[in-house]
Amino acid sequence: MEFLASDALRGRGSGTPDELVAATYVASQLRQYGIVPAGDNGTYIQRGVILQQKLATPPQLRFAVPGGGGQPIIWTYGVQMLTVQLSRRKFQGPLRRIDTENSGHAQASFKGAVVVIFGSDDNKIQSAVGAAMEGGCAAVLAPASARRLKHWDERARELPVLAPTIEGGETAALVGEGNMFAIRPEAIEDLSGVPDGTIVEFDATLAPPETSYTWNAVGMLPGRDPALRKSPILLTAHLDHLGIGKAVEGDNIYNGADDDASGTTAVLELARALGSGPRPRRTVIFALFGSEETGGLGSTWFEAHPPVALKTIAANLEFEMIGRPDPKYMRDKLWLTGWDRSNLGPMLAAHGARLVPDRRPEEQFFTRSDNYVLAKKGVVAQTVSSFGLHADYHRPSDDLAHIDFRHMTIAIGSLIGPLDWLANSDFRPAWKPGQQP
Ligand SMILES: [Zn+2]
Repeated sequence: MEFLASDALRGRGSGTPDELVAATYVASQLRQYGIVPAGDNGTYIQRGVILQQKLATPPQLRFAVPGGGGQPIIWTYGVQMLTVQLSRRKFQGPLRRIDTENSGHAQASFKGAVVVIFGSDDNKIQSAVGAAMEGGCAAVLAPASARRLKHWDERARELPVLAPTIEGGETAALVGEGNMFAIRPEAIEDLSGVPDGTIVEFDATLAPPETSYTWNAVGMLPGRDPALRKSPILLTAHLDHLGIGKAVEGDNIYNGADDDASGTTAVLELARALGSGPRPRRTVIFALFGSEETGGLGSTWFEAHPPVALKTIAANLEFEMIGRPDPKYMRDKLWLTGWDRSNLGPMLAAHGARLVPDRRPEEQFFTRSDNYVLAKKGVVAQTVSSFGLHADYHRPSDDLAHIDFRHMTIAIGSLIGPLDWLANSDFRPAWKPGQQP
């Protein structure tokens, strides 16, 4: 952990050579623990190919104002609007307005609509954006915040980029779906006379995709039971972090000690412990992912190129931010996201794991980590964490000085026995009815 979170690794930026060094280091540790390679071509390294698509020209939103031979209203990127998030280069839908000052948005359906939000209260606007997105809108157009207006020109100079995909076209599971635009307040007023149902169109031209790479480290402890070894357990964490960034108090290295050198260390420690005893009955796969911070790209690549068929995996535990205790809990406890969704957490706890239910459901941590990529494919996949929303999250101060090694040691130690039990047990974890995402 000291090496992973050191300044030497420059914050393990997603898809950077520093991430590759981290993956190569993890691989060398796995080899020392008797874990065999399960990456590309007999190595531990699995290289993922990422495609990034930029728009070729400033895109436009077009409102086909009905009747009277009127001219359409056209908004151009950088003039009347900016993109906040773009997952499609093309969409169209009927305009639907939300007036946050008056009617609100109770019980409305937004499926396929282009939702325009009127109002000036940022909180009300945010809640309307959330309702529109959850309601399955095609796009949401909201008044730009004061902060966005302040940085408008510098943003306008850069053309929008579509959410990255892996080669093969799959969008990373942690990348937000949806199209969102920030609109200049004076432009949004031009729509006041435009009726609901007016067709809004967006059709952008893409530049040729840019290719880049990310690196996972993958190893395997082959099981000894002829039947059980075909239903492996998968232990994962992400080895990348934010790299070098904006300096805070003179420090520009985002060390990511808690996020997620701590989880990577947990997986390595479990590899060391499980690799040192007699071989377990089940196969255990250890996978440390790159490019989680840019939307779960490494795990998406892994899920598209798994070393074993995904449906055979009996369980996946992801380790995310276990380097500090969560003050909301008793010391040295870890919580498991989606506790009520499966029987995995309770069974591990019954065998001594210091695991408790996730008491921050409002944070939706279950859907915010690499486990979700696999859970969406049916694997019983959950995340172990003790992240207590500390102020060093995604800041250069998430460093070794802030790690509680006593907590980490006890927490990881409490999992060795239960995971050893699971690796030798016929028990196969299952989702509870209706709880698989
Ligand atoms: Zn993380």
